[in-house]
Amino acid sequence: MRLHNQIFIAMAIAIVCGTFTDPDSAFLGIPVLMIYDTIGSLFINALKMVVVPLIVSAIISSLINIAGGERLGKLGMKTMIYYMSTSFVAIVIGLLMVNLLTPGLIDGLPAGPSLGLSADTGITLAKIEGQGASDFAGIFLALLPPNIVNAAAQGELLGLIVFSIMFGLMLRKGTGAPSERLRETIDGFYQTMMDVTMFIIRFAPIGVWALIAKTVTLTGADAIRPLAWFFLTTMGALLLHAFVVLPLLIRFLGKRSPLRHIKAMAPALLTAFSSASSAATLPLTMDCVEKGSGVSKGTASFVLPLGATVNMDGTALYECVAAMFIAQAYGLDLSLAQQFLIVITALLTSVGVASIPSASLVAITVILGAVGLPAEGIGLILATDRILDMCRTAVNIWSDSVGAVLIGRSEGEEMILMEQPNTDHTA
Ligand code: ASP
Repeated sequence: MRLHNQIFIAMAIAIVCGTFTDPDSAFLGIPVLMIYDTIGSLFINALKMVVVPLIVSAIISSLINIAGGERLGKLGMKTMIYYMSTSFVAIVIGLLMVNLLTPGLIDGLPAGPSLGLSADTGITLAKIEGQGASDFAGIFLALLPPNIVNAAAQGELLGLIVFSIMFGLMLRKGTGAPSERLRETIDGFYQTMMDVTMFIIRFAPIGVWALIAKTVTLTGADAIRPLAWFFLTTMGALLLHAFVVLPLLIRFLGKRSPLRHIKAMAPALLTAFSSASSAATLPLTMDCVEKGSGVSKGTASFVLPLGATVNMDGTALYECVAAMFIAQAYGLDLSLAQQFLIVITALLTSVGVASIPSASLVAITVILGAVGLPAEGIGLILATDRILDMCRTAVNIWSDSVGAVLIGRSEGEEMILMEQPNTDHTA
């Protein structure tokens, strides 16, 4: 059975399991939540385990294998143009939807008082505050970490990417036997990392089952109800971007069937959905884009690690909708200039946001500060954050994969589609 079908079945079983268990349930005396949590964490840990060596070796290997400096420059430029423009479009879709549907108003009045601030807002704010991205300078400083080992240990991927790009560019130029040996070694290392990744991916159905069962047990459908309108506005905007804008790009610029591409990407999209982490999903994204969609290793290993960190369409859109919703709920009528400020701040912070669950919350506090709203407003959206995080992370990955196809195509790649993407993955 294909991997994505296995994952689908696992998700369906997880929803049933999660519906019938509550946080206090036990199985043979063991708390069920602990079982879900342990299995889910094992899978996420295994994926995270490969992320740092995979990103570093993928970027360096792709830089040393792309022929011609001019071609490399063009590839970098195209990648950044794609990332920035799709994120911008996503934000504008979010802005239009939130202005149209005004989820922060109930019968024309600010919804803030009737929603009430969530009790654990203080805890969340305390968590967010320590993360160092509370100002723009933080985003730029993260580009050059003073200690690369520490950056790797902390999962600060942006700094690691900058280092890998510098290293790859220098190694490209190196002449003589030692440089040649190092190039070969890094290529071999990267290949091995991909093999390790494929082995871990075989366990995706089990991991996804545990992650979804845990979320359903903890969150349930009740959390969404009071925030239904905000939830629907965000979902509507995300769906519009994912199922209209990006498919149009892939159909007309990428000259390929969006349906086939989505099928090829299914294992990565479902993992992004259940893990809510672009970084943890990256190994699968690379595997699906190369094996299922036929994008060359050189392009995929350059575009995707960068995309997982820098290109977050779903996140950028969510940040904008959430900030506007909070403003509406507080009864603040934002001027056009303030809304423009939100758009720009959402674009910049989506680049700096870490590819981990709930990372957007940090960025939203930055935006709230920029337009003069209290950071406590974040409490209004906490209840739905997990489910929307799952959805926006899937959109982030979907946009990265569309970018890889578009850029591969613009590089003249043939991209022979596999008849059966990922057939070799059996659990
Ligand atoms: N969870 C998202 C990701 O990893 C980031 C966020 O929006 O919180 O892509």
